[in-house]
Amino acid sequence: MQRCTGTVFDNLIKLYKEVDQCSNELTLVHSMRLMCRPGCCSCCVDDLTVFEVEAENIKNHYSELLSEGKPHAEGACAFLDDNGGCRIYAHRPYVCRTQGLPLRWIEEIGEEDAVEMRDICPMNDTGDAIETLPAVCCWTIGPVEEKLALLQFELGEGNLLRASLRTLFCREFCA
Ligand code: SF4
Ligand code: SF4
Repeated sequence: MQRCTGTVFDNLIKLYKEVDQCSNELTLVHSMRLMCRPGCCSCCVDDLTVFEVEAENIKNHYSELLSEGKPHAEGACAFLDDNGGCRIYAHRPYVCRTQGLPLRWIEEIGEEDAVEMRDICPMNDTGDAIETLPAVCCWTIGPVEEKLALLQFELGEGNLLRASLRTLFCREFCA
């Protein structure tokens, strides 16, 4: 049976739009504390991996950059430019779309207990402590990851492969 990859990528773009909408709403809520701005890039770390479905989406949109461009020097994300900007901003992975917001997630402890964890970029950790924020004012990690895993499952025919962002560049530059 032939894979209908078009639908997978269409659904990925739809998911990005939903993420952006919710993330923009939370950005407004936290406008006083968020220091995120163009050129601020210490959150663009070098060891990010994404599901193959997000990696393939980047490859589909940036073939010239990936075959002829050079990755940023090791120590920061390969897609950063010299001014701290993202060279794949329009098609950046999900994880880059919520960076800077107060994050919350549930960690299982043993078989029956669970604890809620929270985190935020140190530069945005001002004002009310994030532990005191209502849950709806935080980005909840988990639901979007599950949707991405389903898209990956479909594209990879059951395979949950991940790829490092740096390895998407031409081998010559990654050797
Ligand atoms: S893909 Fe873009 S936004 Fe994401 S870590 Fe790399 S440079 Fe930063
Ligand atoms: S999350 Fe932190 S490091 Fe990243 S852009 Fe926002 S303030 Fe800068």
